[in-house]
Amino acid sequence: MNLFKAIFRAVRSATRFHPSRQPTILDCLPKAELHLHLEGSIRPETAAELAASHHAEITVEEAAARYKFTDFAGFIESFKWVTSLLREPSDYALITRKLLEELMGQNVVYAEITISAGVMLLRNQNIEANLVAICETAQNLRYEDIRVAWILDCVRQFGPEPALQIARVAARLQGSGVVAFGMGGDELAVPTANFRPVFDFAHERGLHIVCHAGEIGGPDSVREAVEVLGAERIGHGIAVVRDRALGQSLASRGIVLENCLTSNVATGVLAKQTGNPSATLADHPLKKLLDSGALLTLSTDDPAMFSTDLLTEYSRAASLGLSPRELLHLAEQSFRAAFLPDADKRVYIDNFRSAAKSLAMK
Ligand SMILES: [Zn+2]
Repeated sequence: MNLFKAIFRAVRSATRFHPSRQPTILDCLPKAELHLHLEGSIRPETAAELAASHHAEITVEEAAARYKFTDFAGFIESFKWVTSLLREPSDYALITRKLLEELMGQNVVYAEITISAGVMLLRNQNIEANLVAICETAQNLRYEDIRVAWILDCVRQFGPEPALQIARVAARLQGSGVVAFGMGGDELAVPTANFRPVFDFAHERGLHIVCHAGEIGGPDSVREAVEVLGAERIGHGIAVVRDRALGQSLASRGIVLENCLTSNVATGVLAKQTGNPSATLADHPLKKLLDSGALLTLSTDDPAMFSTDLLTEYSRAASLGLSPRELLHLAEQSFRAAFLPDADKRVYIDNFRSAAKSLAMK
């Protein structure tokens, strides 16, 4: 994509969700997004559209009100509500199209999008039919400016048996762009060790492994995700800031922590991790983790539910004291940590560097 087109898109999207946001050097650069839930990307307007298609009347304002919560349990309830609107493969096709258009508007050129297959299973849906609709939408519309890969997520509190069913589907769909198997949900619900056979199965079938950990759980939760499940990237992992030795060990092994600033404030996990009930964004340990040598990426998690986008996350990282150089480092790390073949990764990194260089020369 040429730089002019990138700048146009960045300016257009900058006025969409947070008009008063301070732009950063990342606005005009190609970006990768690695921790992003498809179902958490459903904006209130789309939620209302989905409800109407299923003969239920809900206004955009009512949909937005369903995204108001103060703690992690409330967030899970909101997630349950929005996924209840997804009933047919065509619903998944619709939200995929909307998300890809939004990502291109922010100059995201590569995304690994997590699909909560565990929720599809709970609702007795045909997972493969939904996934075919999702993958075909991404392929058929020929989104030339964005490449997408998929991560199938199981839900921890549903237990190992449904998780294994999802791992099997993920293994079968690798040819359709599924690159990894992961686990989200309530981190404290079921012991990590119970899932070991499931993750061993996924790993043996050639899938990459990710896991939410150290979000509401402590450093041990992160340690187990890596040691027991073989996680290559950790969703959130902010608890690592409390265990220096763990942080150093993860960095030396190349394990990346996927930071999601707005999410951590909105779900109350920052308050929990810091022991400060009134914790705000200013209390987020992103800078501390970065200074300690941790490998970090920046992501949106559930952008619609947290009323954010990737440009806003970089802007908020800047407000935490990260310099433009550190923001560039974070953004490049997202390409480095991607589950892409090395040669493809190299191309993305080279393009990113040359775009950053030409921007600096302007
Ligand atoms: Zn997540």
